[in-house]
Parts: sequence; structure tokens; C-alpha cells
Amino acid sequence: MSKTRQALEHHQTGDDADIAHIVDCIIVDAISLGSSDIHIEPWDESLVLRFRLNGVLKEFEHIPLELAEKISARLKVMANLVNYETEKPQEGHARANAGGCVELRLSFFPVVRGGEGNSFSKGEKIVIRIFDPKSRSFDLDQLGFDATTSDAIKELLGRPTGLLLLTGPTGSGKTTAIYAALCHLIQKFGSSISISTVEDPVEFNLPKISQAQINHARDFTYPIALRSLMRQDPQVIMIGEIRDPETAAIAVQAGLTGHLVISTIHSGSTAGVFARMINMNIEPFLLASAIIGVLGLRLVRNNCPLCAMPYQPDAALLKRVPESYLADASWRRGGGCDTCNQTGFEGRTALAEMLTVDEPIRDAVMEKMRTRKLQAIAQEQGMTSLWESGMARATSGEIPIEEILRSVTEDPLT
Ligand SMILES: [Zn+2]
Repeated sequence: MSKTRQALEHHQTGDDADIAHIVDCIIVDAISLGSSDIHIEPWDESLVLRFRLNGVLKEFEHIPLELAEKISARLKVMANLVNYETEKPQEGHARANAGGCVELRLSFFPVVRGGEGNSFSKGEKIVIRIFDPKSRSFDLDQLGFDATTSDAIKELLGRPTGLLLLTGPTGSGKTTAIYAALCHLIQKFGSSISISTVEDPVEFNLPKISQAQINHARDFTYPIALRSLMRQDPQVIMIGEIRDPETAAIAVQAGLTGHLVISTIHSGSTAGVFARMINMNIEPFLLASAIIGVLGLRLVRNNCPLCAMPYQPDAALLKRVPESYLADASWRRGGGCDTCNQTGFEGRTALAEMLTVDEPIRDAVMEKMRTRKLQAIAQEQGMTSLWESGMARATSGEIPIEEILRSVTEDPLT
């Protein structure tokens, strides 16, 4: 029985100590299962507790609705937020002592749900992201990249100047990869390199690196922090995320003036990063000379090695697989065992697409070519696409084909 269930069955009065204990148990359960996020959400009959495990949400427990407000208030107290405010979104941080020094990022969002008749009742959806230092490895060689990608990243990191961007959906491993890149630089250059970061939030403290936390309430924004940082003689600058034209402009400028700049940016595709930067008012000729590479990332679940067995995927799915891959495919999928919690999966690995900017790409960016065309040129220049590396992992039996089709879209060319 889960600790949460035990706490729910034993709670009597619903007083503060009871609620604090239930909340601790939820966090301990989530951490011990290796969850990345906790979702607490009022459904019709109950408050539903779900955990994100290996990237997939799983229903974990149902909690009586009458405890919803108290649980929310307790979490807000932990994060130093206004605990009686339930009608506006709030965000905060907390450290969970229950799970052993784990950082939590909490988000509260007001929602309505159907009540009796036509009335709606109000509630909140709470999402807690867990940052567990123990479960993270910041070793570039441990992220699951193939050797070519890994070598290409290391080559770019060895350059003294330019802008290296990472892109992928939320939860695709961008932060882990960027921290691994910084750790690689520290390993290589030790104390002879000056590395500064500006982040929101700082997820881990890294040795020998100056990390700054953005604080919107105090007007310590990305542009303000970065302008000031430029006078701190940094060689490498890590910017948590580029999401506005001002930050984009400073990042490009820094990359053109003798700094190696590493950052993340949201974009539908790796090649789409160029259009996204141009939409943020960056001149194509500046972009073409500043960007040295774009790394596209996806996280996919590995087959559990103990219960993975050969199987025949659905014919409808196989229609989406290019014929060249079908001949030698040995499809495998986990059937579920005790070790993998009956999921069939064990751990996750990164699929990567390393677009290194060379002459043909630079020309294409200057000409503002469409994303599709840029992608085609990159592949002609030897880039292995996410789709191609996904297909290789699926046909070799490392990952079920369903998992690849779920996370990667087909190359338009094949
Ligand atoms: Zn298994």
C-alpha cells in the first residue's frame, strides 16, 4: 500500500498536522517511484493524484475532494505563497525535506468543474515538478547520443565563439543536456574557463560555474541580467531560455563578440529555430554568422531489458515506416515484469538531431529559406534526423516503434 493511501486511511481530524503528513507522503511516493511531475486535479468525484513516470502520466490515487483546499493551502505555505488565494495562478519553489533535499517547482492554476445542475464549482489544478539531483546525470556520454552526435557537440563546445541552441518540447531533456555541456567544459578546461549562467529557475548548482536566478518581481530579467553579465568577462554564457526579441538580440550579439553562448529555444523543429529567431527580429545575416549549431532533442523510453521480446507491430503503423527500414527490422517490446513496474520500459534515452551550421546552411539562412528546405539541406550535408535515428533504434529492437511514432514526426522527405 502506498504511503499516501496509508496517510489517507489514518487521517482523522483533517487538522494541519494531518494534512502536512498527507502532503509529505505524496511527495515521498512520487520521488520513490522516480516521477518527474505530480499532478493534483479535481475531477467530478475526487481529487485525482497522478505521477509522470518515464514521461507518461499515471493515475496513482484518489483523494476525497473535501481535502483539496487544505492540500493546496499546505503546498502554498511550503512555497511561501499566499495560501488563501485560489482564484489566480501562482508559482513558487519549495524544498522537500520529506524526500531528501529535493527541489520542487509548484504551479497553481484555477479551474472550474461541473457541479449540480448548471452551477460550476471552483478548484485548482496543482502541478509539482520534481528536481532530484540523484536521478540526474550530467555526463554528455551518458545521455544516449550516438557517437557522431556526441562528437559534433564536443567539437562545437570546443569553439571559442558562437551561439549553440538546444530545442525540443518540454521534458525533452534540454536542461540535462545543457548542464552536461557545461560540465564537459569544466572537465576539459578546469578553472581556466569563466562560465556564467542566467536561468529561470536554477535547477542545480554546478561546481566552478556562476549561476544567476532570474527574478521578475525585482525586475532582474534576462535582458538586464545579460547586459550586466557582459561586463563580468565571461567566456561561456548559458542562457536558460530565449523567449523574447531582446534576449535573442543580446544572445546573438554575445555570440558574435567572442563568447560561446549556449541556450534553449522553443520551436516545432530543429531547422525551425532559424525562422523563430527571424520572427524575433534577428537579421538573417547576423543569425547566419552567429549560430554554430542547433541540437534538436526528444526523450524516449527504452525497452525493459528483462522482459523485451520480439513482436509484430500493427500493420497500420508499419505503413508509416519507410520500406528501406523494414527489411532488417527486429521489432522488440517489453511485456511488463516486476522490475519495470509492469510498464515494459526501463529508463529513457535521448534522440538527437545535430544541425551543424556550415556554408550551405549559412547561405540558406541568409536567403530566408523555408524551414523544410533548411532541413533538407542539413540532411544533404549529413545530418541524421530525429526520424532516422528513431527508426534505427526501433529497428534494432531498443525501443518499440510505437514509442518512436509517438514522439517524432516523419521527415517530410522520406
Ligand atoms: Zn520488464
